[in-house]
Amino acid sequence: MFIDSHCHLDFPEFQARLPEVLANMKSAQVSHALCVSVDIPDFPNVLKLAQEHPHLYASVGVHPDYEDTPEPTLEFLVDTAKKHSKIVAIGETGLDYYRMGDRSYESMEWQRERFRTHIRAALESKKPLIIHTRSASEDTIKILKEEGAEGIGGVMHCFTESLDVARKAMDLGFYISFSGIVTFKSAKDLQETCKQVPLDRMLIETDSPYLAPIPYRGKTNEPAWVSKVGEFIASLKGVSVEELANSTSSNFYQCFQIDRTVN
Ligand SMILES: [Zn+2]
Ligand SMILES: [Zn+2]
Repeated sequence: MFIDSHCHLDFPEFQARLPEVLANMKSAQVSHALCVSVDIPDFPNVLKLAQEHPHLYASVGVHPDYEDTPEPTLEFLVDTAKKHSKIVAIGETGLDYYRMGDRSYESMEWQRERFRTHIRAALESKKPLIIHTRSASEDTIKILKEEGAEGIGGVMHCFTESLDVARKAMDLGFYISFSGIVTFKSAKDLQETCKQVPLDRMLIETDSPYLAPIPYRGKTNEPAWVSKVGEFIASLKGVSVEELANSTSSNFYQCFQIDRTVN
């Protein structure tokens, strides 16, 4: 059985067809999925999904790309994470300088501050971090270190960085999660990196509705298709699909501190 470690089932793309999407998961042998929060206004929908469906989990956090949105306080994140047992992580958080455009480095200080708040919330609530990093790996690692994030760990989601960045993140206790991007023909470097990431440090995800893997590239992605990511990586690493599925699923439980005997 596979687990989708990162999806956005609360997004409008899924609203009309949720039962179908959940049924597709089942037939693709995808046992669980983690619905990841991107902002406070949408968070109740993420939580509701996890509360209504035993095989879905939730996180709480505000995405670094969401600029004009209510800012989460440390207290809000910690209280919310502690209050609900289906919330297994803080995020997604991190840094995204890709959208900085012509703006100055200093003008992105709000993003770094928001990131620090999430790390502190993770440490305080003892829930691991879901990290989004784009065009900002150096600062991401630096801030994780400065804030002592190795005390809680988590996952570098939708990983597209170099092996060097992967190693630095793994040294801080983070798992590396690969999405459908790794299946793209253009992703040769990422495929090489993926080969080097040990099976016991790896997660898989869809980041759906985005980034559908081959052979569905361009379509609306969904958690069922994490199986395609898993099958691709298994062949890339020369292991059986079963081994890849078993390792990434048990890593998921480990990373998010989920007792698989009760869930
Ligand atoms: Zn992300
Ligand atoms: Zn995401």
